[in-house]
This record gives sequence, structure tokens and C-alpha cells, in this order.
Amino acid sequence: TVEDEGSQQGVHLLGAGAYGEVILVQSKSSKCTMALKCCFDCLIPDDPTALKRMYREIAVLRQVRHKNIVSLQDAVLPKTGCHLYLAFELALHDLEHAIRYNLVEEPRRVSCNIARALSFLHATGLIHRDVKPSNILLDKDGRAKLCDFGFVRRSCLRDDPPRAFTEYVGMRWYRAPELFVGTFYNQSIDVWSYGCVVAEMVLGRPLISGIDGEEQLGLIVGLCLGRHPSRFEAESLGVSERNHIAGVVRTVPLGPTLDKKLNGVTDSQCLEFVRSCLKFGPAERSTAEELLRNRFLAGCQEVWSLQNGQELQGRSLVARAFRTSPDKDVWTVFKEI
Ligand code: ADP
Ligand code: MG
Repeated sequence: TVEDEGSQQGVHLLGAGAYGEVILVQSKSSKCTMALKCCFDCLIPDDPTALKRMYREIAVLRQVRHKNIVSLQDAVLPKTGCHLYLAFELALHDLEHAIRYNLVEEPRRVSCNIARALSFLHATGLIHRDVKPSNILLDKDGRAKLCDFGFVRRSCLRDDPPRAFTEYVGMRWYRAPELFVGTFYNQSIDVWSYGCVVAEMVLGRPLISGIDGEEQLGLIVGLCLGRHPSRFEAESLGVSERNHIAGVVRTVPLGPTLDKKLNGVTDSQCLEFVRSCLKFGPAERSTAEELLRNRFLAGCQEVWSLQNGQELQGRSLVARAFRTSPDKDVWTVFKEI
């Protein structure tokens, strides 16, 4: 490792998203390694989206603390420059990577961890809205944590105006059917996405690929309109049309395409579990709380080592160091060797 001299070149990149990079850093004071989410140029007034997303992430993560939710150590807004930095506890890799390289040793445990995170989040009145493998982190002990809280919303109350789906930007092929028609939605959209993720872990590939996501949109809206709509047509439907479609969608059984894909899930307990998440009707889906009581997750023990307490102690020191000197260069950036 070498110290960063201001250049981003060759840094150890942990991940890259829509609004910046996540890099490996070490606190100079405590020597703790962490993941630093860097949002470059997000303070430029003509692009408020990135900033809004980061602020939302900070606000939510300050409020929710859970062992299966990634822990935010600190947020740093240097006095000069237009960048915003979020320091997180470090994970080994994300679930997308782990699935791709066949590194998921205990799918049941990961499922259990994320169900716990969702159950906690939902009980707090929040919807994650972007549950997918790349937003699930695995630490070195195989513990799973939900991350990326930039799209979180308070759950809709019955009397709230419908949320238009164009506002929702989550990944299309983890998206619940009701979001394609832009009517009321609630926490159960996270359960649908979660079901796709659990199936993906077991199958080793996405349950619904990108192309299928389009197909699914066609399947749902087409069923209701009696013909296959273009994507743009579907996105520009009026409120009453959407409500009508949503009513029909609720009564549609699991799409035949989806059903066929689930054939690859051979464990009957797991299949029943995944099916309970992938109900077209949001009200028929299991709640996160119910998922935790499902036999598939029953008996899934959480193992906590003493080491964890020590790690946390170190981290709080880091957080203090950041707070007292946010403008100083407090990180050593790990370069790729
Ligand atoms: P974005 O909003 O840009 O998608 P994320 O928070 O999802 O940002 O982070 C992007 C990627 O960075 C993740 O998919 C993951 O690969 C990596 N990453 C994020 N946080 C951590 C962390 N704490 N430890 C290790 N890798 C991380
Ligand atoms: Mg992400």
C-alpha cells in the first residue's frame, strides 16, 4: 500500500456505481480499513440528483443501525471542492460478484441475513426499493448486509397519491410487477426483489434477465391491454388505465415464464419460500417478518465472534477522528498492486 498523492489512478476500486466510486482506504489515525464511497462533483448546483441521493443515504443510515445493514462510519464534506465522501465498514465483496464466481457458501444464511435487514427496515416504515445482488455485501465471515440506501422511501400510506413508476429507478429485472404499471406500492416490492435474489443465488444466474424484464413488462401490461405494448406506451399510461391494469395484475397467477424458470430450484423448501415472495399480488406476498418464520430460514443461527466488538471499538475511534478533522487528509488510499 502507498499513500495517495491526490491522484485517483490505480486506487483499489471496490465498486463503481451511478454516482461515483467506492475505494479501499485506511484511516491514518486508527489504521482501520474501510470502504469510501466517493461522490464526485455532486455539490454542483445544476445536478441536485446525486446530492439528494447521497443525503438520503446519510439520513437513513444514521437512523437505522442493524447488524445486517452496512454501517456508515462517517460522512465528510470537505470545505473546498465539490465532492462528498461516505466511509463504510469494509466488506469482502458484493453478492453479484459472489454469485458470478460461485463463492456463495451458505445461500440460506445470506437469505436469512437479508430477510432480517428487510424486516427491520420495513418495521421502521421504510422501503429500500433497490434490492439486488450488487446492493448486498458479504463480509469476511460470510455475513450479509444490505447497502446502497440512496433510493429509500417512506412507505406509502393508503391515502397517499399513487407514485408514478417513472420516479422509480431500481433495476428493471428485480422490479415487482406493480411497479411496471405505476400504482400504489408498499414494502412488498422489496420482498419481490428479494425473492429474485434468493432464486439467483440458488440458480447461479439471474432469475429474470434484462431481456426477460422487458418480457415481463409485456406479459403484465399485455395481459391487461390485450396486446403487447411498447415500453414507451406502457410508461405513458394514464392513472385510470394504470389502476385498471393494477387491478388485473393482482389476480394474475405467477407468469408461466417465471414458473418455468423456477424449475431449476430443486430444493422444495427453497422453492416454496421463493414462490411466497414472487406472488403477482402484493398482498399475497409474504411479509419480511413472515419470511423469517418460514421453514426455509428456521434454524438459521447467527454467529457473532468477539472480534466483532473489537472491530466496532476501532471504528468509533475512526469516526471521532473524522469528525474532528474533516478537512485534513485522514485516509490512506490503497493502490492496486
Ligand atoms: P451505488 O449507489 O453507486 O450503486 P453502492 O453503495 O451500491 O453504490 O456501492 C457500489 C459498489 O461498491 C457495490 O456494489 C459494492 O461492489 C461496492 N461496495 C459498496 N460498499 C462497500 C463496502 N462497504 N465494502 C466493500 N465494497 C463495497
Ligand atoms: Mg448499488
